[in-house]
Amino acid sequence: MKKNNCKYIFVVGGVMSSVGKGIAAASIGKILQSRGYKVANLKADMYVNIDAGTIRPAEHGEVFVGEDGIEADQDLGNYERFTDQTSTRENYITTGQIYAEVIRRERNLEYEGEDVEVYPDIPKEIIRRIEVCQKKNNSEITIIEYGGTVGEYQLLPFLEAARMMKSKNPEDVLFVLISYLPTPTLLGEQKSKPTQRAVIDLHSVGLNPDFVICRADKPATSDIKKTINNVCSLSIERIISAPNVYSIYDVPVNFEKDNFGETLLKALHLPVRKRDLSEWVTLAQKIKKIDKEVKIGIVGKYFNFKSCKDTYISVIESINHASWALGFKPNILWLDSEKYEKDSSLLCELDSLDGIIVPGGFGNRGVEGMILTADYARLKKIPYFGLCLGMQIMTIAYARNILKLKDANSTEMDPETPHPVIATMADQVDKIKNKNYGATMRLGAYPAMLKRGSLASAAYGQAEISERHRHRYEVDNKYVEQLQKAGLVFSGVSPDGTLMEIAELPKKDHPFYLGTQFHPEFKSRPFAPHPLFTAFVKAAKRK
Ligand code: GLN
Repeated sequence: MKKNNCKYIFVVGGVMSSVGKGIAAASIGKILQSRGYKVANLKADMYVNIDAGTIRPAEHGEVFVGEDGIEADQDLGNYERFTDQTSTRENYITTGQIYAEVIRRERNLEYEGEDVEVYPDIPKEIIRRIEVCQKKNNSEITIIEYGGTVGEYQLLPFLEAARMMKSKNPEDVLFVLISYLPTPTLLGEQKSKPTQRAVIDLHSVGLNPDFVICRADKPATSDIKKTINNVCSLSIERIISAPNVYSIYDVPVNFEKDNFGETLLKALHLPVRKRDLSEWVTLAQKIKKIDKEVKIGIVGKYFNFKSCKDTYISVIESINHASWALGFKPNILWLDSEKYEKDSSLLCELDSLDGIIVPGGFGNRGVEGMILTADYARLKKIPYFGLCLGMQIMTIAYARNILKLKDANSTEMDPETPHPVIATMADQVDKIKNKNYGATMRLGAYPAMLKRGSLASAAYGQAEISERHRHRYEVDNKYVEQLQKAGLVFSGVSPDGTLMEIAELPKKDHPFYLGTQFHPEFKSRPFAPHPLFTAFVKAAKRK
């Protein structure tokens, strides 16, 4: 092996999307990391958006926020949860970013009079960005996941970038095709033809997969492996089975059943080091054995499009991590807040829950139902956890019902409200007026100081915290004194004392009634559940 060569693994999808490419890419990172390699995961999305911040989560999945404030595809969350490494803006690229940079350079005469072409200038910029990510992370192996599926027009410049890298350093670059093997019910057997088509699509752009991961309900049969081996001229050990598993945290362990880590390292001409996945094996076994349930209701409104699993993935995973650590199996119910607006008698269905979460959100649809929920949870002493919008909601509910400020609201929902307990942040006013929406919220990690003796400080066990944010509105300081006098405690505040980061009711008044202006869900890990989620699930189970 040439010394210090950086290695690259491209992960591309075949046949169809939503087969768990992100989990597979994250798991590849994990199994190589577990063998002592420094890895980095990068996501390249095909859309022209500069980032995911302007994309509707109900259709495209959660917007994941990084420490540095990047608003990225949800897969960065998978990478963080699997490899326990913090992603940065260098770990995320889009077609929009690539074109914006090429056009910026062209306007600055940096192409020195040459005409700028889609080929090769776009692939070249993609390669530059992949290398920037490698350098920033100082990774020995960089795993690049391409969004979309082979055969899509917009993927072509990205595949070309990969081909260029491979032709320059064939020993340092691998292609992993993740394909789907359908099992038509009438036949009851796995079919490989769609995967063969995907391989042919890759061939047409000058690429052959080095590995094929077979996603399917069941493990890939040996017949199927043989057929794929014929089409791709791949040895059987390079065809990896990826059947449905009990939890996503089984995937790295499952990959290793096919010795994927070792075969990958050999293919990259890297020494095969011993792996240590023992805590993953333990976790995967533990999850399967848990039978005691905790019932959590998520009251929100983004439930009518795609699967809620994608829209709220970090919230779901945070509930999972905390529940598993405490020995419970979460049962999550999706409750559409709009129905409570139409008929408040339906709120009594919340009685059967162990705990309620009102997650983040934008715009006023469903908000009145969330406010009713927050008040109901307070009166009925049902543990309540508000995430960003959920904290604003509980503050509004408190102002309306305890301070008797009729029509109290957020200026986001009602710009004319007589009592804007949640108001537009000062630096957001002009941005909103000028429709300057892209990447302009209060984003990323900010510190907060915790009040001694509060639920929050007991949960964290420390006086200062740092959490990730994504919002334009905040508690208006004009109302802080009144709200505090009426019993609401602002237990987390920015170091300069001006921004309310956590609101809660004292334990003597309610078992758990707490909301955060930030998004704790982005920092929960399978082996380090977020302390607030742990405290919430504990309270829920005590109910
Ligand atoms: N819409 C609210 C705001 O912008 C809450 C944002 C969120 O929940 N992420 O402040």
